[in-house]
Amino acid sequence: MRQQLFFSPTMRDVPQGADIASHQLMLRAGLIRQTASGVYSYLPLGKRVLRKVEEIVRDEMDAAGGQEMLMPAIQPAELWQESGRYTDMGPELMRLKDRHERDFVLGATHEEVITSLVRDEVTSYKKLPMNLYQIQTKYRDERRPRFGVLRSREFIMKDAYSFDADEEGLDKNYQAMYQAYSAIFTRCGLDYRAVEADAGAIGGNGGTHEFMVLSAIGEDTIAYSDASDYAANLEIAAVPDNYKKADPAEKLLSTTETPAMKTIKEVSNYLGQDPSKLLKSLLFIVNEQPVLVICRGDHEINEIKVANAFGEMHAELADQETVQQVMGTEPGFIGPVNAPEHVEIIADFAVKSLNAAVCGANEADKHFQNVHPGRDFQVNRFMDLRIVQEGDAAPDGKGTYRFAKGIEVGHVFKLGTKYSEALGASFLDENGRSNPIIMGCYGIGVSRTIAAVIEQNHDENGLIWPKSVAPFDLHLLILNTKQEEQVKLGEELYELLRTKGYDVLFDDRKERAGVKFKDSDLIGLPVRIACGKKAAQGVVEVKIRRGGEVEEIQVDSLIEYLQKTFEKLV
Ligand code: ATP
Ligand code: MG
Repeated sequence: MRQQLFFSPTMRDVPQGADIASHQLMLRAGLIRQTASGVYSYLPLGKRVLRKVEEIVRDEMDAAGGQEMLMPAIQPAELWQESGRYTDMGPELMRLKDRHERDFVLGATHEEVITSLVRDEVTSYKKLPMNLYQIQTKYRDERRPRFGVLRSREFIMKDAYSFDADEEGLDKNYQAMYQAYSAIFTRCGLDYRAVEADAGAIGGNGGTHEFMVLSAIGEDTIAYSDASDYAANLEIAAVPDNYKKADPAEKLLSTTETPAMKTIKEVSNYLGQDPSKLLKSLLFIVNEQPVLVICRGDHEINEIKVANAFGEMHAELADQETVQQVMGTEPGFIGPVNAPEHVEIIADFAVKSLNAAVCGANEADKHFQNVHPGRDFQVNRFMDLRIVQEGDAAPDGKGTYRFAKGIEVGHVFKLGTKYSEALGASFLDENGRSNPIIMGCYGIGVSRTIAAVIEQNHDENGLIWPKSVAPFDLHLLILNTKQEEQVKLGEELYELLRTKGYDVLFDDRKERAGVKFKDSDLIGLPVRIACGKKAAQGVVEVKIRRGGEVEEIQVDSLIEYLQKTFEKLV
């Protein structure tokens, strides 16, 4: 491609409102432009990278037995009403009406469409298993679109759906997708980790992993063991029950004044007690029922674990008014001792080893002291309810937890029969009995993956593309277009390199050499070849973008040199 004619506007300055490297560089190098908040156009350079990533995805999906298809973005609201997600997805779901006032949505994913398709076409076990996928545009009205294409409102996803007659089949499909994803992200040059994730109310037996690209700007926290392969999203990372039952109580329960002391910190300072000796009590509303959840004062309750404890998608923290109504006092003074009978009490494992603890007295400005679980209050269930902390023991018994930040680029999920039951997708088994089809779903954020690649592959001068996803292989520069020898050599090499199968961006612009070098570093193709002062002697200057080595190479040996170089390049 001749750069003279190429639509790739570059920018010198850091664009306003772009806070992270990938967003800044995608704008500056001319890969994308914003059309609306969270909505982007891909310019030719960006589109080339998209195509490269898509081809890797396609390649591995096909190899894993996937069949590519294409489903519509516009979907009838009825389908989403059938699955229940028309209300469940809330304002994130983009909605629209046609000219007849009929309701439609813009697809956020395609479980509904694919399940209804399969429902109508697949009725026998003989057609199973099956794995269908597409690479297509998704719409989500994110609360905070940001970081460019990392969290946008319109984005490109690869979504796959598997259909099986039994759990073993699902396991197989899930494993195949897990392997394919590992291959895809490795080929994209990413440093990533597959972590156990929240399966919510529908996941069942540990069937979900997120693929996380390690990056300081990641919105997710990965909790991993420093001594084994165990890694999980902080949201669900398990804390093992290493707590012994408390020694028998020695002191009697007593009440103490704690005027206006509501937080753990205030109470612990006021009473001179370590936060680990306090009980933290939070009132949740789960399935419309009040639940008092307690943990140690130095721990944090994990709302996802609370919801999962009841097999629900959400556990909602009660508002001040509800707390007052249920517990008879404000949130800062509630506790499990003397709690109303109809309030279920569940506690984190750590609570059972507390002795002589402090908790709210369910009365304003008062706390109990010398509280003993089992004597002063009963716990319905002791469970893992807290957020793991760095240094906690890992659940596989090996090592302790460490944290890292990650960008979720992919997600594999055992759906089970949620959608097939809701939409009535069933098949007849060998014995002629009807069963719901067992499904899995598997997503990759194709556009987000590009941003993640950039987060891990750039320097202060610009992008550094891994060769597998680079928009071109080579950047060929004529440093001075007024010098005939340079132009002649440039043109010859442009021909030659293309006949040798290289994808070449040819900077034939009438710009100063300094401008060209800067743009070249910014765009970040793996190898730069400059035709400069020594063109007449048949010598070019070659620079490897990653590492920055510069070498003068005789044109005669250039092709051989490039072959060797590309073999070694990431
Ligand atoms: P997140 O927690 O980041 O919102 P999600 O759990 O909603 O992600 P999924 O529904 O599992 O995401 O979608 C599959 C993949 O699509 C994700 O792994 C991610 O790579 C990508 N993705 C999701 N939302 C966005 C978005 N707003 N912009 C870009 N990519 C996205
Ligand atoms: Mg989301």
